[in-house]
Amino acid sequence: MSIATTDPRTGQVLKTYEAMSDAQVDAAIERTDLAYRDLRSTSIAQRGRWLEAAADLLDAERDEIARLMTTEMGKTFAASKAEVTKCAAACRFYARHAAEFLADRPADASAVSATRAFVRYQPIGPVLAVMPWNFPLWQVVRFAAPALMAGNTGLLKHASNVPQTALLLENVFRRAGFPEGAFTTLLVGSDAVNRILSDPRVRAATLTGSEPAGRSIAQIAGRELKKTVLELGGSDPFVVMPSADVELAAEVATTARCQNNGQSCIAAKRFIVHADVYDVFAEAFAHRMSALRVGDPMDGDTDVGPLASERGRDEVDAQVRDAVDKGATVLCGGEKPTGDGWFYPPTVVTDLRPDMRMWSEEVFGPVAGLYRVSSYDEAIEVANGTSYGLGSNAWTRDAQEQERFATDLDAGAVFVNGMTTSYPELPFGGVKNSGYGRELSAQGMHEFCNVKTVWVG
Ligand code: NDP
Repeated sequence: MSIATTDPRTGQVLKTYEAMSDAQVDAAIERTDLAYRDLRSTSIAQRGRWLEAAADLLDAERDEIARLMTTEMGKTFAASKAEVTKCAAACRFYARHAAEFLADRPADASAVSATRAFVRYQPIGPVLAVMPWNFPLWQVVRFAAPALMAGNTGLLKHASNVPQTALLLENVFRRAGFPEGAFTTLLVGSDAVNRILSDPRVRAATLTGSEPAGRSIAQIAGRELKKTVLELGGSDPFVVMPSADVELAAEVATTARCQNNGQSCIAAKRFIVHADVYDVFAEAFAHRMSALRVGDPMDGDTDVGPLASERGRDEVDAQVRDAVDKGATVLCGGEKPTGDGWFYPPTVVTDLRPDMRMWSEEVFGPVAGLYRVSSYDEAIEVANGTSYGLGSNAWTRDAQEQERFATDLDAGAVFVNGMTTSYPELPFGGVKNSGYGRELSAQGMHEFCNVKTVWVG
């Protein structure tokens, strides 16, 4: 895949980049290794001041950054602005909480025959971040903010279709005061990852992306005995039970499915509705989905912009065609538009069966699968019936059912009566083929720390 900015509204290539040579990559790794030695000996307070400065730059330059993100991957300008603001908030969160998260944690000294025993959190070194284009700033910042605060350095291999956003972020951290090499963008294709991760100076890797990319990185890291955190997407269930506020559920379902033009790992993708409220939900949901305005993402009236790539749109269309050919019913949308740009209409498909791709695969576009179930147990069976386990949603006003969903949904997160989202305060990650490890919160910071036991006799 060439490294280039291509406008998804038109398919026009706006800017291309040469991939860095091996020698350039090696020099960058050398710089990041040197920066690590420097950064780990700076104080948390100093790193916090730099991260606060990065937050200030993101806020001050929000519109310019957001315009670039929209140009590179097609999300609405409003969504891009919200993403920049969220990144600034996450930087501040880690700047302000790192001292608490990294403080020595005392243990019971007498139980281990010591005069003193405690846990100390220390950085581990340069971490490679392989990141996707769908939240081009947020995916990186949620790794970089805790990693830099912990004293690690970051090497970013961003998706090949968002090179300008990748370079911009390096520039923001540099201008905020972080030492040269503390955060470096490597303009390389995915074929360079093996070599970079095999370098002994690179100590760990984090990836957000597809399952094949995750398997590949996990294999290399396994061979090299390096820690990885993997976030590999999902096909989140959104269960609606009879006691739910069905109108509200349909409204939130629409946002949950079509946020980010339908290209979010934690977007609700499978809508599993109890038969008692199925018809009411299906009508309200299809009505809301078809009312969304598809168009130019820079236009304030647009709800859904184009998909990020032609390949991505072809994949979504193929998944819908496969279902329709095998007997599924389309309640709205479902036709790939002709003309410029990689647009796809909000779509609701029902009468799905296990032999259809949509049943088990992640659909990375504004396409919802609708399932009718007749009991709690059947809802859980369908909800847990894919290889994914990232987020999940349950809609019920029954307190006992809420408790059961929290336990029974096989996922890294359960959101009851609300939309799955990520907060710096809460851990984020999946189970099963959605990956392993956690981002965000103190847990996300500790993933790339040496959790060191100190025992004093
Ligand atoms: P990829 O997983 O291919 O891309 C994500 C990142 O991984 C990019 O930086 C990419 O680089 C890199 N990459 C790809 N293959 C490898 C590899 N073998 N070794 C190392 N790095 C690799 O996602 P796509 O953009 O192709 O999207 C495909 C599907 O993945 C989507 O339809 C969706 O289902 C899922 N996905 C999930 C995301 C999530 O948020 N969890 C985000 C994006 C995609 P390069 O761009 O140079 O290929």
